[in-house]
Amino acid sequence: MNSRVFHRHCHSTLPVAVRGEGAYLFDQNGKAYLDASGGAAVSCLGHNHAGVRAALHHQIDSLAYAHSAFFTTESAELLADKLAEHAPGDLNHTYFLSGGSEAVEAALKLARQYFLEIGQPQRTRFISRRQSYHGNTLGALAVGGNIWRRAPFDPLLIPAEHIAPCYSYRDKRAHETPFEYGQRVANELEERLLVVGPDTVIAFIAEPVVGATAGALTAEEGYFSRIREICNQYGVLLILDEVMCGMGRTGTLFAHEQEGIHADIVTIAKGLGAGYQPIGAMLASDRVYDAVSNGSGFFQHGHTYMGHATATAGALAVLNAIQNENLLPNVVHKGNLLMDRLHQRFAENVHVGDIRGRGLFIGLELVKDKETKQPFDPVTQLHARIKNRAMELGLICYPMSGTIDGTHGHHILLAPPFIISTEQVDELVDKLGNSIESVIKEVT
Ligand code: PLP
Repeated sequence: MNSRVFHRHCHSTLPVAVRGEGAYLFDQNGKAYLDASGGAAVSCLGHNHAGVRAALHHQIDSLAYAHSAFFTTESAELLADKLAEHAPGDLNHTYFLSGGSEAVEAALKLARQYFLEIGQPQRTRFISRRQSYHGNTLGALAVGGNIWRRAPFDPLLIPAEHIAPCYSYRDKRAHETPFEYGQRVANELEERLLVVGPDTVIAFIAEPVVGATAGALTAEEGYFSRIREICNQYGVLLILDEVMCGMGRTGTLFAHEQEGIHADIVTIAKGLGAGYQPIGAMLASDRVYDAVSNGSGFFQHGHTYMGHATATAGALAVLNAIQNENLLPNVVHKGNLLMDRLHQRFAENVHVGDIRGRGLFIGLELVKDKETKQPFDPVTQLHARIKNRAMELGLICYPMSGTIDGTHGHHILLAPPFIISTEQVDELVDKLGNSIESVIKEVT
């Protein structure tokens, strides 16, 4: 049984986390762990941020919670304003939720309702990519690309089609330029639309930078512009899932700012609350919002804790800290530094096949042989062993394994806090290098 999920009635061997400070977590024995993945790309400010703590105290001392059907709060309004002000395009309408999967569910439902409002009820399916993770609730699971996660629940899932990811490390043909490759895989969207009938499709959903299934996989230049073009041509909505890659992680507040496109709906979570509060949000464009607002006037959705006063106060303080402490340039600077140091450290290592990412969102793909790109056998559980070895050495990194298009892969995701120092970058690379090298020695 997975001891991460069920507390108490399992024999957990996990250390007990008791304290956090900056880039470090401490367990019950006082052992320090450099938090190089922010858990799962959550703790973007590091731990124990004084400004966020103060804002939370201030909010909870006056009002912890008021139901969103009866009240709004100052923090919810200010946060919504700030997000709308900084989001690309006209994502002017924010709907707060409690996490990433909830945000994705809301996005899928709003997209469906949009087409009901404008008289296109025949649109009932979604298209997404084989290499993607959108959450674990049933709607999010249906659009996610992870076959083993979906399989037990397949009979319960809503209709979703999965097309190729933009995964040049494994998929680009030798004669193609990166641009040509990006166009080829983006065109799979059009091909699939024509097969299933473009007027039956609600939306295409994708992560601008893929996180939990692939380790910080960026798309080739021009890929997302072509995707946007195809969505426009066939009247399909574009939902961008920035639950993991958003909120500054890639060096801009929204990851898709760097793709030069506008989305119809965007989801965010993780870094929004930075671990200080569980919160997510869905941002809708004017077109989508107006269709509902001027139509039925009511989005048929809702949760008890949406717009939670303490959660929105925490997230507002996080966003203020990112801005006031000017952290985004540090994301770019330390991201470049980390990338350089990783390339130096693993230059001679034949088992680190690819190092990729953007900003402080970096993934490593591990292979048996760099030349052939042959992955390690899944039974090695390489990713899990590296995670455990790193923990022994006082480093937290995020392990992943999965099968995409028949190829099994082991990946390590790094998402350190935006405040990481040069010395901590060195410590990270040193401990990660030792973890990977020692585990690989055991399995080869
Ligand atoms: N979408 C993406 C891109 C994610 O990475 C995740 C979580 O890893 C989710 C959605 C689901 O978020 P949550 O775990 O908060 O439900």
